[in-house]
Amino acid sequence: MNVVLITVDTLRPDHLSAYGYARGTSAPLDWLAEEGVVFTNVYSTSSWTPPSVASLLTSLPPDRHGIRSGDAPDFLEGGHEVEGQEVLRGSVVTLAEAVAAHGYTTVGFSTNPHVSARLGFAQGFDHFESLRAPASSDTSAGAVYADAAAVASAVTRRTREAIAAGKAFIWIHYLDPHFPYRKRSPWLEEYAESDARDGPLPAAITHPRWFHESTADPAARRRLFEAWYDGEIRFACKEIGALLEELVDREQTLIVLTSDHGESIFEHGVLGHGQTLFEAELRIPLMLRFPEAWNATGTRSERVSIMDIAPTILSALAIPIPESMSGQSLMPLVREDARFESRALYSELRRGRLDVHAVIEDGWKLIVDRGRRFQALYHLDEDPGESRNLIHVRPGRARRLGQALMARVREADAARAAHREPIDEETRVRLRALGYVE
Ligand SMILES: [Zn+2]
Repeated sequence: MNVVLITVDTLRPDHLSAYGYARGTSAPLDWLAEEGVVFTNVYSTSSWTPPSVASLLTSLPPDRHGIRSGDAPDFLEGGHEVEGQEVLRGSVVTLAEAVAAHGYTTVGFSTNPHVSARLGFAQGFDHFESLRAPASSDTSAGAVYADAAAVASAVTRRTREAIAAGKAFIWIHYLDPHFPYRKRSPWLEEYAESDARDGPLPAAITHPRWFHESTADPAARRRLFEAWYDGEIRFACKEIGALLEELVDREQTLIVLTSDHGESIFEHGVLGHGQTLFEAELRIPLMLRFPEAWNATGTRSERVSIMDIAPTILSALAIPIPESMSGQSLMPLVREDARFESRALYSELRRGRLDVHAVIEDGWKLIVDRGRRFQALYHLDEDPGESRNLIHVRPGRARRLGQALMARVREADAARAAHREPIDEETRVRLRALGYVE
């Protein structure tokens, strides 16, 4: 059996028709949901790319895989390389390494510069390509990364050969629903129709400022943002659908579609991601389409983690799950067998000045923002929009969750301090000259 793992950056499950969204944004892929298993409550370990994708591939939380930083290049100024991002250490075991060790041919494609071979993400891949927008692209029209159409044309003969041999692991990371947005016709026009604005729709939106300045009405602003966001999702799903149609035999392939994080669309006053640990940024889709003989279909609402995806794929392939992986296989849920223990799910956002942590357990969620000295407790089952902070209403619950969360955070801090890389001699000489070290 082949495996095709598709990650679509910045993809909110509630914006997919496969998850009941009113617009047919995922129409070309809705068969994945109809013929497969749909998980409706999947949480990432963070709300932006580097830590989340590293958790997907290693099944480790950010404090264990160590990927927490990284400044995106300024695409619009012609930049390509990420600065200041930790490199995924060779000592961690990735999903690609685990399948490669069992004879799979592994091929990966990434369109996100945070996820590159230079940054350690090619570990375990026989062939890995970081795709970029063609040099001739018009960046002012938003063509700053390899879009889903460019991905389709980059999938090489090698990929087809690997799939034809029947033992391939293919990973493709798409970027389309991530800012900046291009005018995806005809869907944008259809979606934006009700939001009459002065003048024609631009060819691209290259700065979020445009949405803030477009209209003073918050509801109209949200609808306008959604029109552009949904247009990109619809475009990506069309391209992915066509690629799958061309590349894979559904009866010989496990197809997994997920994301790395969501996107705030003015929830809690925020636009974008990597800024909060609220549901809009933390929740991701997860659809698994098994060959028909597996008889695996339906919806599963248990709260599960992005770290569970790698163990699930390995378990489906009957490959032992490496001991290092801390997620758990979802196959008991796929098979609707009772052996699945729900656990507390943790997430974190340590980026620049942000130092935010969250824990979700038994339908409750505690967010501790150490930088802003803010804490919030939400009952997700009754308040999925996180609008009522119950921190003073349920102090016992808040204390218990807070103790578990902060014990973990302190342990991670201590481990990080203990394992800090020794300073190399050149740095030591410079620091000594500055009076920092003896
Ligand atoms: Zn991302």
